[in-house]
Amino acid sequence: MAEDCIFCKIAAGEIPSTKVYEDDLVCAFEDLNPMMPVHVLIVPKEHHANIGDNIPDALMGHLFNSVKKVAELKGIAESGYRVIVNTGDDACQTVHHVHVHVLGGAKMNDGSPAL
Ligand code: 5GP
Ligand code: ZN
Repeated sequence: MAEDCIFCKIAAGEIPSTKVYEDDLVCAFEDLNPMMPVHVLIVPKEHHANIGDNIPDALMGHLFNSVKKVAELKGIAESGYRVIVNTGDDACQTVHHVHVHVLGGAKMNDGSPAL
C-alpha cells in the first residue's frame, strides 16, 4: 500500500465507501461526487499511480474485464455506459492511484461528462 493514498485505504477497507464489486485483485465503489446517475470507480488493490505505471498485463486485463461486471451489477449493461481513465495533469487526474470511471444511467450529450 502506498502511504497516504486514499484509494489504497478504500481498497483495504480503512476508509469507508459504498462497495459495488470486489474480488482478490480489484475493488469497485461509488464515486463520492457522482457526475451521472451511475458513477462507479474501479481500482486495482495493488497501488499503481496511473495507467502508465507498469501495470502487469494480467492485472490490466482483469481491471478492464471488471467493467462489464460492474455495468451488469448497476443495471446499465444494456443501456450503455462510458469508461474514462484520467491520466496525469492535462487530464486533471486528482487521485494518483489508477482508477476506471464507469458512468451511465442517463443519455450523455456529446462530450459529456467532462471528467
Ligand atoms: P480523477 O479526477 O482523479 O479521475 O477522479 C477522482 C475521483 O475520485 C473523483 O471523481 C472524486 O469524486 C473521487 N473521489 C475522491 N476522493 C474520494 C473518496 O474519498 N471516496 C470516493 N468514493 N470517491 C472519491
Ligand atoms: Zn494507492
